[in-house]
Amino acid sequence: MLGLMMHQPLRIAGLLEHAEKWHADTEIVSRLAEGGFHRYTYAGLGRRSRQLANVLGRLGIKPDDRVGTLAWNNYRHLELYYAVSGMGAVCHTINPRLFGGQLTYIIDHAQDQAIFFDLTFLPLAEKLAPACPNVRNWVLMTDRAHMPESTTLPNLRCYEDLLAAESEVYEWPEFDENTASSLCYTSGTTAEPKGVLYSHRSTLLHTFAAGLPDCFNCSAQDVILPVVPMFHVNAWGIPYLAPMLGCKLVLPGPGLDAASLYELFEQEGVTFSAGVPTIWLGLLAFMREKELQFTTLRKMIVGGAACPPALLKAFGEELNVEIRHAWGMTETSPLGTVSTLKPQQSSLSAAEQAELLAKQGRVIYGVDMKIVDDTGKTLPHDGVAFGDLLVRGAWVVADYFGTDTPGQLTTDGWFSTGDVATIDAVGFMQITDRSKDVIKSGGEWISSIALENLAVGHPAVAEAAVIGRPHPKWSERPLLVVVCRPSHEVSADELLAFYEGKVARWWIPEAVEFVEELPHTATGKIRKTQLREDFVGYQWP
Ligand code: ADP
Repeated sequence: MLGLMMHQPLRIAGLLEHAEKWHADTEIVSRLAEGGFHRYTYAGLGRRSRQLANVLGRLGIKPDDRVGTLAWNNYRHLELYYAVSGMGAVCHTINPRLFGGQLTYIIDHAQDQAIFFDLTFLPLAEKLAPACPNVRNWVLMTDRAHMPESTTLPNLRCYEDLLAAESEVYEWPEFDENTASSLCYTSGTTAEPKGVLYSHRSTLLHTFAAGLPDCFNCSAQDVILPVVPMFHVNAWGIPYLAPMLGCKLVLPGPGLDAASLYELFEQEGVTFSAGVPTIWLGLLAFMREKELQFTTLRKMIVGGAACPPALLKAFGEELNVEIRHAWGMTETSPLGTVSTLKPQQSSLSAAEQAELLAKQGRVIYGVDMKIVDDTGKTLPHDGVAFGDLLVRGAWVVADYFGTDTPGQLTTDGWFSTGDVATIDAVGFMQITDRSKDVIKSGGEWISSIALENLAVGHPAVAEAAVIGRPHPKWSERPLLVVVCRPSHEVSADELLAFYEGKVARWWIPEAVEFVEELPHTATGKIRKTQLREDFVGYQWP
């Protein structure tokens, strides 16, 4: 017998309809690539998204077509999120920080019909266009005054001109909630980029989960500033969560340096933010140097790469901001686990609690996880045994977009994340490494993340990476590569001594190298593949 409840397909446009009707006056503020700020409300977002849906129709975009974006976090990008998915087409957010070859590969693979881009990316679009013959329309996300006088782009159009010519009347269509909504390629840290095709249903379920108290714990009271880009895993779902809850949204545009971010946090009364550790390490250094405090910021999510415990501690103790450590990936929409305490842990000492909170955390309902050994046997939850982390759930990838071999990505319904992890008795998962970054010394595994976290705890260290390098006796040994904080100095011996008593002796890195900066991926993570190349043929001292 079926239940007798209304059937309302979960649709992204429904989020917009809700915000427009019930949070019409709530603000959306954007820092613009053209300079200055733009302000409007959910009412404005609703009106302009409908105009944009009419534009898309006029450009010949049909349901299921892919529409690419090369854009910062700003209100026009948000309009694309809603108009493209809302009309039943697929919003393909492209990461502009990828290499040229990867970008043309992705645009071609996705068969993007049109590309919308910010002024910053005009030179990039001009460079890409000759290799992207299938893109029928290039749309510059700006007004007439900022259009270039000449360009090599075929068929270049002005976003504001297109919008101005269209009606605000548009009915968002109803369709199956499993319809594809958006497409995001993995940044290719470990292989060719692969497309993850989200659906309206997976996106909506992920959004409900993101708002839960043990997840982002946001409400209509919050003012949210996503530092994580809208071109990377849908800014971790914040562009959908904010309208669902009716939160004021602050979009930082290209201003991702510490000074610009701090200015925006204070100017707009931001209470909640999210981003990768590199951003927060930079902001922390800036605020320490200028002796600044936050007036309104109270909590933030740090993920995408391991959050060093020293960062958790510094934000909590020096800046009075609660950091929540989260784990996920493009393939998991991205939320998988978040680290928050259970009631049984309230009696633990502060140090024990801090140790738990530094882990990647507990699964959110909607996702399940397990760790397995090389033979696929499930490993115990004892916090010691580590193995491949497998996940499954309503917002976990089942197949990559355009695969030639459908149905083979998962094993018995589980997706292998490529991460190596432990799970403890209370259910906290801890990533020890990416399988490709694992260091095997004398047949035993060493966690590069654990060594990096410790190094960043040294007062002279701004950023640190640990990679395995071939070793004649141990097959591989860890090499610590360090960037020092400005006007700080430390010797290799001092750093190595800093590990004494904190890890097993044989885990202590074999050597230390100092560099001006570390290579980062398009999403701000340390590019270990590049670093291993930089230190190819490394001679141990
Ligand atoms: P890419 O695969 O291109 O790096 P993703 O953003 O999808 O792009 O990366 C997901 C990976 O990032 C995870 O598989 C994991 O290795 C790493 N990661 C994400 N969050 C964390 C975290 N909190 N701690 C450690 N690693 C993390």
